[in-house]
Amino acid sequence: MRVTPLPAPLTDDPGAIRVRVEEPNAYPCRRCLQDGEVGETMLLLSYDPFVGASPYSGPGPIYVHDGDCATFDGDDIPDQLTRRLLSVRAYDERHMLLDADVIEGTDLAGAAQRLLTGASYLHVHNARPGCFAARIDG
Ligand SMILES: [Zn+2]
Repeated sequence: MRVTPLPAPLTDDPGAIRVRVEEPNAYPCRRCLQDGEVGETMLLLSYDPFVGASPYSGPGPIYVHDGDCATFDGDDIPDQLTRRLLSVRAYDERHMLLDADVIEGTDLAGAAQRLLTGASYLHVHNARPGCFAARIDG
């Protein structure tokens, strides 16, 4: 299982704003897949994770660290995702939705395995605010 942050490139968002992290585990950076630490500055901007045309595409809010942080690179589920209620959406190679579920982040590995069966990739979102979290490929 491959976890990819920001599958589509980040683009300039004229509506982006800078916010100061006020509490732990509340400002998830979608580039390094770590939560902002209290006192750090994050950018809140709109982002569309689709890499092809899809009726399901559309921008939504995400945080990234304001400044350089190392892009997450790995096959393990990052802790950031295990701490949250997640919406997991399975798409085919034409970017059409095949299946979706809402799960506890601690169940992500098993749910991803199940949802990837017959699917091309998954998009993971935070279930309540709806922000994009990461893409998972089998
Ligand atoms: Zn970061």
